[in-house]
Amino acid sequence: MPNPKRQHSKRRSRLRRTHWKLRVASFSPCSHCGKPVIPHRVCPFCGFYKGKLIVEIKQKQEEKEAEPQEAKKEAKAKNA
Ligand SMILES: [Zn+2]
Repeated sequence: MPNPKRQHSKRRSRLRRTHWKLRVASFSPCSHCGKPVIPHRVCPFCGFYKGKLIVEIKQKQEEKEAEPQEAKKEAKAKNA
């Protein structure tokens, strides 16, 4: 089995790791609704891709779920 002859210096490993970076995700405006969307993905807001409806997005359930949560927050604020 090949083995390294010497231990790598801190500089050498750190120089290699300078390229391990997180990049800011690139967004492009959706062709249908105009909201920022990851390219080459179906729009999570309207479900359109390449000008066609691919996925139907349910909005009524989200609205129903959002209302009780806001009501709970208001109730907690009143109690505190
Ligand atoms: Zn869209």
